[in-house]
Amino acid sequence: MILRGKFPVEKFREIETPFYYYDMNLLRDTLDCVREAISRDPNFHVHYAVKANANPDILRTIARAGFGADCVSGGEILAAVKAGFPGSKIVYAGVGKTDREINIGLDNDIFCFNVESVPELEVINELAAAKGKVAAVALRVNPNVGAHTHANITTGLAENKFGIAMTDLDRVIDMARDLKNVRFIGLHFHIGSQILDMTDFTALCNRVNDITARLEQRGVKISDINVGGGLGIDYKHPNHHPIPDFKEYFATYRRHLHLLPGQQLHFELGRAIVGQCGALISRVVFVKEGTKKKFAILDAGMTDLIRPALYEAYHRIENISSEAEDVERYDVVGPVCESSDVFGKAVDMPSTKRGDFIALRSAGAYGEIMASQYNCRQLPLAVLSDNL
Ligand SMILES: *Cc1c(COP(=O)(O)O)cnc(C)c1O
Repeated sequence: MILRGKFPVEKFREIETPFYYYDMNLLRDTLDCVREAISRDPNFHVHYAVKANANPDILRTIARAGFGADCVSGGEILAAVKAGFPGSKIVYAGVGKTDREINIGLDNDIFCFNVESVPELEVINELAAAKGKVAAVALRVNPNVGAHTHANITTGLAENKFGIAMTDLDRVIDMARDLKNVRFIGLHFHIGSQILDMTDFTALCNRVNDITARLEQRGVKISDINVGGGLGIDYKHPNHHPIPDFKEYFATYRRHLHLLPGQQLHFELGRAIVGQCGALISRVVFVKEGTKKKFAILDAGMTDLIRPALYEAYHRIENISSEAEDVERYDVVGPVCESSDVFGKAVDMPSTKRGDFIALRSAGAYGEIMASQYNCRQLPLAVLSDNL
């Protein structure tokens, strides 16, 4: 017996595949859990990381739940505002903000620019001056804390391109405090993604405590600390753990991060909020008998979900329509002309045939938003459970 998620397969039969299916009840339950976990911390603020999934319906649902938005481009700021996030709850990070993008942030009076370099600080000051505004800025610090995750998704090591090195921090803060059209409010950190070991976040807390204590001694006032996102999800067991352990996550910060009275703590969660509510639904085009193995060839490919090809990421693969009793082993692949267009090797599924529906689970984050038209393929559609 292979455990499978529950999907409205009969309704799927009328829909062209591949498509992303979003379980909106799970999304709303997840948002409720986040809210509940911080309900007694009025100084905790969660900004949803738009880059994980910018589907307009998903964004609207998260905005309506009262969360802020964490953006990494001008386009994301526009998408967030359009979906109903107030500018006053938008934070904006990114190593290469263009003048146009900075102006989008200024025009929407966003809460804070997370600044990643000295030249960026100077340009924000100039552009804010031209508009007669003062931009709130936090400096993104590269804390040199490693997250035990895939090398391509760690961001907080000295070798990464992100943030300002700790050795430069004092100088850059002094600069920020001298500029007329920026207001220094605090520090920003983000150490990586898909982090499940809470001790990685504890290590970040300890590093933040060291830095803020030292700055306080120098008389630098910090009103806001942003610890980024990175909380992971259970890709192996989406049915057992549909909602991440937000209680434990926030408790880690409550326990280990020393906040001064009045200090505000910001979080930027992406994957943990939207990851489990999405699945990529596809049909089997052909089952092909190779010389050594069987291939289940899907109508979904790496252009629809690139994470396995890009990060060697695991997604649980389920045949959600087969009623066969016997289990067989397949390499599950897409149709794109790249050898890396493989979703899973040696996957045990009920005996599978042409036309069966295959769900790639836990695809709500970094799925639809990363889709491309390589091979002149169509972009995948999105189907909401609310509309079926
Ligand atoms: C990507 C990103 C996040 C969100 O990361 P998740 O792992 O999806 O929670 C938060 N902050 C910044 C600056 C990011 O680049």
